Amino acid sequence: MRCPYCGSTNTQVKDSRPSEDNTTIRRRRVCADCGGRFTTFERVQLRELTVIKRSGRRIPFDRDKLMRSVQIALRKRPVEPERVERMVSGIVRRLENMGESDIKSETIGHLVMEALKGLDDVAYVRFASVYKNFREAKDFEALLGELAGTEGENAEADEAAAAED
Ligand SMILES: [Zn+2]
Repeated sequence: MRCPYCGSTNTQVKDSRPSEDNTTIRRRRVCADCGGRFTTFERVQLRELTVIKRSGRRIPFDRDKLMRSVQIALRKRPVEPERVERMVSGIVRRLENMGESDIKSETIGHLVMEALKGLDDVAYVRFASVYKNFREAKDFEALLGELAGTEGENAEADEAAAAED
């Protein structure tokens, strides 16, 4: 596994343990070259999913991208990472269980809203306001991309909503 900090492939697993619900293995890794520490998750994938964007374009479903959008909505909220992992896994499991390998991007947005509603009110409002503002004008995938693009900057989801192309 390549180090996300320095790009070295000289990394080692320090610790492996299953998540609380035993659906994932979490591995703590350390880079021998820069000392950077990071965590990877190993999980079951039942089905290859394709996202159908509003434009009709098809892209492979990307769990990490979904996770980034969720994390932006949850920025600075007191929610344990394990719960967020479980929520995202639950969404992915539901998508896989729909029996279709093609999923509309809008369907994913609805599931995320539903799940956030149960997890954190503030994150739900953030996500829902962005989602609803954009659904008329733009493809939801474009929104997810923009949200992901603001990661690490000091931008809130609603600021992203206000931004025009
Ligand atoms: Zn490194």
